[in-house]
Amino acid sequence: MRSSRDNYEAVIGLEVHAQMLTNSKAYSEDINEYGALPNTNVSVVSLGHPGTLPVMNKKTLEFAIKLGLACDAQIAKNHHFARKNYFYPDLPKGYQITQDQTPICTGGSIFIRDAEGNEKKIGLTRIHMEEDAGKSIHDVDINDTLVDLNRAGVPLLEIVSEPDLRNAQEAYNYLSEIRKLVRYLEICDGNMEEGSLRCDANISVRLKGTSEFGTKVEVKNMNSIRNVQRAIEFEIDRQINCVEHNEKIDQETRSFDALKGITISMRSKEAANDYRYFPEPDLQPIRIDESQINSIQKEMPELPRNLFIKYTEKFGLSDYDSLNITENKGVAMYFEELIQYTKNYKAAANWIMGEIKSYLNEWGVEISSFPIKPLQIAKLIHIIEEGKISNSAATQKVFPELLKKPNEEPISIAEELNVIQESDEHSMVGYIQSVISNNPSEVERYKNGEKQLIGFFMGQLMKVSNGKADPKSGNALLRKILEE
Ligand code: ADP
Ligand code: MG
Repeated sequence: MRSSRDNYEAVIGLEVHAQMLTNSKAYSEDINEYGALPNTNVSVVSLGHPGTLPVMNKKTLEFAIKLGLACDAQIAKNHHFARKNYFYPDLPKGYQITQDQTPICTGGSIFIRDAEGNEKKIGLTRIHMEEDAGKSIHDVDINDTLVDLNRAGVPLLEIVSEPDLRNAQEAYNYLSEIRKLVRYLEICDGNMEEGSLRCDANISVRLKGTSEFGTKVEVKNMNSIRNVQRAIEFEIDRQINCVEHNEKIDQETRSFDALKGITISMRSKEAANDYRYFPEPDLQPIRIDESQINSIQKEMPELPRNLFIKYTEKFGLSDYDSLNITENKGVAMYFEELIQYTKNYKAAANWIMGEIKSYLNEWGVEISSFPIKPLQIAKLIHIIEEGKISNSAATQKVFPELLKKPNEEPISIAEELNVIQESDEHSMVGYIQSVISNNPSEVERYKNGEKQLIGFFMGQLMKVSNGKADPKSGNALLRKILEE
């Protein structure tokens, strides 16, 4: 009997490569930058000339430790580099300097949300330091493949997950978390389109309820998180089809074609011993002591998950609000500063997710370019709380003006714009009297029981007061006078 698709589950493990945001390359002084003219950041070291020697970039070690600490991984006190030998035109040395037996980090985890929105822990196998290869460009010249070696030697961290992911959505969430994390740590810009964050997905399928893993297939060449998800969805379907038709799944490497949305066989998977790994003789083994780890620990920024826990548990914000605010580090840091000046967390969150994010979206800028300082937004929140201006006057009138004059006091702007609410009883009574004398028939109907007319009177009150009557006290006083 044929089993249906629902009887299968996928097993997925991701290998993520993150290019480090260092000024120079991993083992040379060559500049590490994206988008330079081809083959301009290439010294004899990047070109693999005989007799040149690598020198380790200390920053990469610091970045690797940072990431390890953020994932709660074990940091190896003693480790060394290894040579991974293979031949390819974009690898002039004929080997890649990487780590094999002694990765700098082992274990640790990344927390993601599963389909139900619950937290799920994804184990990490290891994180190790290595270098990027150059770039083979197949689509610029019609006859030849071109090679750009600017990327050769750019420092990478490879983050290998345990096979703990169960579907394409979880893989999407996992990658989003990694991207958020490296951006918080400021060790990688997380730009998948430019290739500074790359992902190989290992995928297998098995019947639900079985514990043995199926044969895995590795899929490469996805240039966005969404494409990783699409590639995995396609591959799961393809493998289930194979199993259903009693076809063998080959252990192979496949490439994702984003236009067609399919994976295509590239090559059969090479085994580790094909690479003839051996300890890199040109670089010293590395020793790290506790004090070095401690000093890096002290400089760790607040991490998104800790902020999320603080916002939900201590500030009583919703999961939705907290995720929204912690999505981007700059935004979260803005919020952190804002709540130093106001304890109205919900209002602070609403300003961020409402007016401020609209501004950022509209202008396509980061929050670092947002002109208004958190203190000014806090003052705005404060005068709304005091009833001096209404929320709508704040968002529709004062805020746009504050954008133009970010250093002016919000209260002065409110005064200039004439939107200060009047809640003092004397002038309010005056407004109410005029509403009553202008609308005698409605007053009659109200008194005869049509209490819903209160809305009409409130509208009139706003009209005669030019929108300055404080709705709350105005409403109370209006009812009182009408019912006298
Ligand atoms: P390889 O030796 O082929 O590189 P590894 O054991 O190092 O394989 O695993 C590489 C990645 O593949 C890891 O992220 C791991 O979680 C994942 N993986 C291992 N086995 C499977 C499997 N059967 N199905 C899906 N992913 C797997
Ligand atoms: Mg491996």
